[in-house]
Amino acid sequence: MDVEEFRVRGKEMVDYICTYMTTLRTRRVTPSVEPGYLRAALPAEAPHLPEAWDDVMMDVENKIMPGVTHWQHPRFHAYFPSGNAYPSILGDMLSAGIGCIGFSWAASPACTELEIIMLDWMGKAIGLPPAFLALEEGSNGGGVIEGSASECVLVSMLAARAAGIKRLKHQFPTVDEGLLLSKLIAYCSKEAHSCVEKAAMICFVKMRILQPDEHGSLRGETLKEAMEEDEEAGLVPFFVATTLGTTSCCSFDNLPEIGPIVRKFPSVWLHVDAAYAGSAFLCPEHKYHLAGIEYADSFNTNPNKLMLTSFDCSLLWVTNRYLLTSALVVDPLYLQHCYDHTAIDYRHWGVPLSRRFRSLKLWFMLRSYGISGLQKYIRRHCELAKYFEKLVKKDERFEVCNQVKLGLVCFRLVGGLDETPEQIDELNKKLLTNINASGKIHMVPASVRDHFVIRFCVVHQQATREDIEIAWDIISDFATELLEGPDKERDLNEERARRNRAALAHKRSFFVRMVSDPKIYNPAINKTPPPVPTTPGSPPPAAAPATPDTPSDAGSVQLVPSTPKQSSWISWPLAFFFQSVDHDANDLPLSMLSRFRHLDTMVRLKSPGAGALPRRGSSPGASPARRAPSPATQ
Ligand code: PLP
Repeated sequence: MDVEEFRVRGKEMVDYICTYMTTLRTRRVTPSVEPGYLRAALPAEAPHLPEAWDDVMMDVENKIMPGVTHWQHPRFHAYFPSGNAYPSILGDMLSAGIGCIGFSWAASPACTELEIIMLDWMGKAIGLPPAFLALEEGSNGGGVIEGSASECVLVSMLAARAAGIKRLKHQFPTVDEGLLLSKLIAYCSKEAHSCVEKAAMICFVKMRILQPDEHGSLRGETLKEAMEEDEEAGLVPFFVATTLGTTSCCSFDNLPEIGPIVRKFPSVWLHVDAAYAGSAFLCPEHKYHLAGIEYADSFNTNPNKLMLTSFDCSLLWVTNRYLLTSALVVDPLYLQHCYDHTAIDYRHWGVPLSRRFRSLKLWFMLRSYGISGLQKYIRRHCELAKYFEKLVKKDERFEVCNQVKLGLVCFRLVGGLDETPEQIDELNKKLLTNINASGKIHMVPASVRDHFVIRFCVVHQQATREDIEIAWDIISDFATELLEGPDKERDLNEERARRNRAALAHKRSFFVRMVSDPKIYNPAINKTPPPVPTTPGSPPPAAAPATPDTPSDAGSVQLVPSTPKQSSWISWPLAFFFQSVDHDANDLPLSMLSRFRHLDTMVRLKSPGAGALPRRGSSPGASPARRAPSPATQ
């Protein structure tokens, strides 16, 4: 393709996108295809000769679009919003067109400098303290755009881990770093996003998962007790991850309580994950959620969720950029430049070396909408959630299960007086399955106070009250059909018998899978310390807790009380891995199958089988009894 053809095709592509957006309502919100559908439709190998552009675009419409879940569809109410406002799409287009790789200031000065300025603009607009801003007089802080909130949490934990090991090494200079690492322990709430546990796995540190209060909020006293208990057992608390706006139910950890507790433990890093909620703090009325932020060492939010900006755009701020970069710095000669002592080099702020010019889309968004335009969008988003909450509350067959503070409402059918909690869960699973199978609207479930609930998120950029009413009518009609239709005489015993078979397939189903499924922290796995590495004939593990100054028992790391409080779980790095017999999903115990869904996915993708072609009127995950793999997690 030469530049003249690009000029033409580029305009056609914009037209295609505009038509897609304006006709989205006519499509099913979720596709009706089975895993492997595309493999049956595409050749097994790449073409040897170039193909005509028109043929490629025809395949986009005929082969790709039937397998797309339309996240911008007005009936999409799953997960959180995925921004894609036009100025942002254009910013990404320009970034791709410029095609620079801004790993250092010298590699593309504008790329680095615009990012620094955008992070300061955003930090000020959200209400972060000056210590987080790079260009503030006397500040050691600053912000960076990472590829995801998961990366923001990971690099914060890496920085905290490096600082923790450094401090311990100073205290115990003769003790091996490996042993020091085994003493570190991180903390988060059961409501924290699973990326926090993943970060702990990557960092190879223990993580204690704590029980939040009845509103899903982690409280200071719970954290304090856990940290004190662990310190007594010879462990070294080094990282606390809190969440403002949790994935399951948009709850808020109690930062004003947690902050002062963390301060009492010198050198413990306090991270605040506000992936979804952070953009709401652009509005003065939501800023109160940030109370206690002055205690934090790092904070992240995703404008690609609630700020209309296209993925990927995850912002991370730290108050001490030197702690972050010293954990990640490598400095080969070919990347050095003559300004590297006076300029920020973002290659030291994250995992990848190469980075796109992502700040362009943020700049376009902030200038096109202005803070006031973004506030208007966020306010409407929250008002519509309140409107949906009102509709649910008006119908006595339902209850609202979370405190609706932003755009997420968790609700469920309450069931009859004589129904057990399990039966009510089943009822709600069935309701959600039926709704999703219809392709009329799309929602996902969550677990709130150990109940199966349905999450309804206001997502569409131009959503109106009418959209909310349409969604509610669909939900309400399905509930009526379930409660009063041919299913009225539902046999709950049969339901219970079916439940065991269904639960497994249900969990695997992408469209009815829990967001942040707390059962992933399987107590059977996590309450058990990892196997002590012993060699044949070696003595049993030492009974007494080890401490950094008793390195001789390095092989028997029995450090944590063997019966941690019932309300918390210890996630041992890779403990689940050591417990598996081998990598065959068929050999895994039931309790571990949710963790090893991906193995099954690989097996099934190899044999697309009879279901390879799209089926009318069905949707992946439509029936809990189907075995559908989970292609992705939120
Ligand atoms: N943290 C929270 C609170 C989230 O809600 C999510 C995703 O929804 C994440 C982290 C993970 O975000 P990402 O996909 O950007 O890694």
